[in-house]
Amino acid sequence: MSTAWHVLGAGSLGTLWATRLARAGLPVRLILRDAARLHSYEAVGGLTLVENGQAHTYAVPGETPDSPEPIRRLLVACKAYDAEEAVARLASRLAPDAELILLQNGLGSQDAVAARVPQARCISASSTEGAFRDGDWRVVFAGHGFNWLGDGANPLAPVWLDDLQAANIPHEWSADILTRLWRKLALNCAINPLTVLHNCRNGGLSEHHCEVATLCAELAELLQHCGQPAAADNLQAEVERVIHATAANYSSMYQDVANQRRTEISYLLGHACKVAERHQLHLPHLQQLQQRLVAHLRKRGLPSD
Ligand code: NAP
Repeated sequence: MSTAWHVLGAGSLGTLWATRLARAGLPVRLILRDAARLHSYEAVGGLTLVENGQAHTYAVPGETPDSPEPIRRLLVACKAYDAEEAVARLASRLAPDAELILLQNGLGSQDAVAARVPQARCISASSTEGAFRDGDWRVVFAGHGFNWLGDGANPLAPVWLDDLQAANIPHEWSADILTRLWRKLALNCAINPLTVLHNCRNGGLSEHHCEVATLCAELAELLQHCGQPAAADNLQAEVERVIHATAANYSSMYQDVANQRRTEISYLLGHACKVAERHQLHLPHLQQLQQRLVAHLRKRGLPSD
């Protein structure tokens, strides 16, 4: 019997992964926050994935964090700001050889989780797949993409990559996952906050070329100083390419703010500013961007952390 995949968080990415693993016949269990969420889930009877307009429901069994079964493989699919506490609640259930796969965007939450469960192996993921919820327990697979997985502390690839293969989850084991996470964070810092402040789609930033270029220069300086020179390579050219290629899209931060949802700012721009401070780097435009974004969020009554 193969090892069960415990999926923590039945949101967009958690559902996208849980349904594909279940569809491949692999054992999956969904961990919901509490008994009320479990009852709501059980009343519906499964998770629905909408792909190419077709909806399929998978009867993935649910449980609460208090369930007694040990956990050997845990896919953490909460937002970055929820991951540490959500994992801490499961610490006593983790088997001695437990492995965690952390799907959180940005940086900071991965180290916080690892510190809470030092006995477990923590594997970080960087995903370009896109999904959104269009109802409770129902997720639309909106953008095909790719997943890079890696463990900065141990280059050995885990055996369960075969499960991802069987489930048609596109992936690659990456020796430089931290560089990938920093690169994605830098792209996010150069694009997402400005789309919120200028109230525009990604393509609208082509009218703010100088502002974007200045931010890219400061972000590249930060990456050089924190031992990530490869993540700084041609950053501005890639930012401009992304702005052009995704011109019609609203950034994830824009969508969070527009829908009055908490953003992951602390793990993106906030993390970049914190690391700059730690290195005593003066990056005035990046710092000013953070101040403007925090003020904007507060004005809208949203958390600024
Ligand atoms: P999401 O749709 O908001 O899902 C997060 C889920 O975590 C929610 O279902 C929430 O439960 C659950 N949760 C929070 N605390 C919990 C706890 N203590 N116990 C159990 N469940 C808990 O978020 P998402 O869009 O999937 O994003 C997850 C991460 O992936 C983020 O860091 C995001 O940036 C990253 N990411 C997302 C995408 C995408 O397309 N969505 C793409 C790339 C990266 P409730 O339902 O009860 O609130």
